[in-house]
Amino acid sequence: MHGGAGAYICGEETALIDSLEGLRGQPRLKPPFPAVKGLYGQPTVVNNVETLSNLPHIVNNGGAWFKALGTESSTGTRLFCCSGHINRPGTYEMLLGTPIRELLEEECGGMLAGDTLKAFQPGGGSMQVLLPEHVDLPLDMNEVQKAGSSLGAGAMIFMNQDTCLVDVSMRLVDFYQHESCGKCVPCREGTYFESQLMHKLERGEATSAELATLSDICSNMDGRCFCPLGDTATWFVMSAYKAFRDEFEAHCGAGRCPVKARALAQVA
Ligand code: SF4
Repeated sequence: MHGGAGAYICGEETALIDSLEGLRGQPRLKPPFPAVKGLYGQPTVVNNVETLSNLPHIVNNGGAWFKALGTESSTGTRLFCCSGHINRPGTYEMLLGTPIRELLEEECGGMLAGDTLKAFQPGGGSMQVLLPEHVDLPLDMNEVQKAGSSLGAGAMIFMNQDTCLVDVSMRLVDFYQHESCGKCVPCREGTYFESQLMHKLERGEATSAELATLSDICSNMDGRCFCPLGDTATWFVMSAYKAFRDEFEAHCGAGRCPVKARALAQVA
C-alpha cells in the first residue's frame, strides 16, 4: 500500500509510476509504455480498481457472458458518480446501453423540484457539455462520442436552468490550472491565461476581442500538450462556448453575470 498526495495528474499512469518511485508526479514520454518499461524500469500493468473488479466475474462466468452484457461497443457495467441539481446524488452501477434518462430519473430521482435540465456533463470535468436533447442517448461510448462528448471517467453533473455556463467553465479551468504539473508550456501557460480570461469574463469585464483570444488560447492548447490534462482543460470551455454562445457574449462588458442577475430577479 502506498498513499499518494492527491495530485490529479497522478491519474495518468506514468505520473502515477513516478509518484510511486518517490519522484514528482509528472507524465513520462511514451513510448516506452509501462507494459514495456514501467515501475523501476520493469514491465508494469496499470489498471484502475473498476477494471480489476470485473476480473473475478469474467473468470467465473467466462468472456462470452461478460460480452453479452451492455452493447456491442460498450460491454458490461460502469459506475456513474452523479451530482448537480438532482434529488439523489450518488454513485450508481449501470448496465451500459441504459438510457441516460433512466439514470437521471430513476436512480438519481430526477431534477430537484422546480428545476429543468439545462445542460449536463457526462464524463467528468474534462468532457464536453451535452444538452437536454442528449438525455435519451444510451450509456454507450460510441453514441456519446457521436454527440460530441464522452463517458470519460463516468462522473455526471446535471445542471439546472439557473446555472451559468461561464461560471462552471471558470471553475473547471481553475481546477486544471491548479492541477497542471507544469512540465509543458502549452498547459502551464495556457491554463493560466485561460483562467485569467475566464475570471474577467465571469465578472462581466471582458471584451468580445478577449473572448476571441480565449478561443485562440484553447485551440493552441488542444493537441499540443504533453499529456491529455492540458488538451482536456479546453474541452468543456469550448463546448460550452459553442452551445451557449449567447450566454458567453452577454457577459462581455455587462459588468456582472447576466445569468445570475436573471435568476436573482426571479427570486426577488
Ligand atoms: S499537459 Fe499539463 S499536466 Fe500534462 S505534462 Fe503538460 S503541464 Fe503537465
